[in-house]
Amino acid sequence: METLAILVAAGRGERMGAGRPKAFLAVAGQTLLVRAARALRAAPSVGAIVAVVPGDSLEEARGLLDASVPGCVVVAGGGRRQDSVKAGLDAMPEGFAGVVLVHDAARPFVPADVVEAVAAAAREHGAAIPAVSLTDTVKEVQDARVMGTLDRNRLAAAQTPQAFRRDVLTRAYRRAFADSVTVTDESMAVERLGLTVVWVEGSARSRKLTTPDDLEWAERLVQDGHA
Ligand code: C5P
Repeated sequence: METLAILVAAGRGERMGAGRPKAFLAVAGQTLLVRAARALRAAPSVGAIVAVVPGDSLEEARGLLDASVPGCVVVAGGGRRQDSVKAGLDAMPEGFAGVVLVHDAARPFVPADVVEAVAAAAREHGAAIPAVSLTDTVKEVQDARVMGTLDRNRLAAAQTPQAFRRDVLTRAYRRAFADSVTVTDESMAVERLGLTVVWVEGSARSRKLTTPDDLEWAERLVQDGHA
């Protein structure tokens, strides 16, 4: 079954405070956009990549990707993450009936074995995500008050790429939009349909780069030769 990837990179990255979209920030001289596209390309089963970028950065993104990950399709994203994913889905070839991966440009160091594992699980089960167990104890809070403690053994932090058979993701997205629901990942849209989503082991290297501290961590990772 063929596998295509949507790389979402259209966020404004305001928590990074860099004054420009996060995907265009560089770690050791290479943008998160290019690093994330290279990480997907490194997985043998990934075919085409659709990169979704801010509408005013289309040309810049095409230039960067053509130079190091040729063959990517580049389209403009939307206001919410799910609008950007939808733009990517709309750019998929019409008859495509394989597996769609949705990956954050903010996770540029995902190992190829995680990509392969999640794609294989989606081929088998229809929907799959990478996730990691939590080491912190997680609290439910309201304003300044701690309301309760969640059972850590029942929790896992979701990563990307999340993988779905195309028909599953299309159906889930159609329903989320019809119901005017905002979803923070694709799995959430599929869970709403009552379908099974399985999880595979994610990776600490696939940390989401959100703050300047995360970028420093990423610089160290590259300098130490781990990426
Ligand atoms: O904002 P957040 O860190 O949750 O974004 C996760 C990923 O989704 C990032 O790679 C970001 O570029 C992407 N995104 C997008 N379009 C948006 C918002 C986020 O492509 N409107």
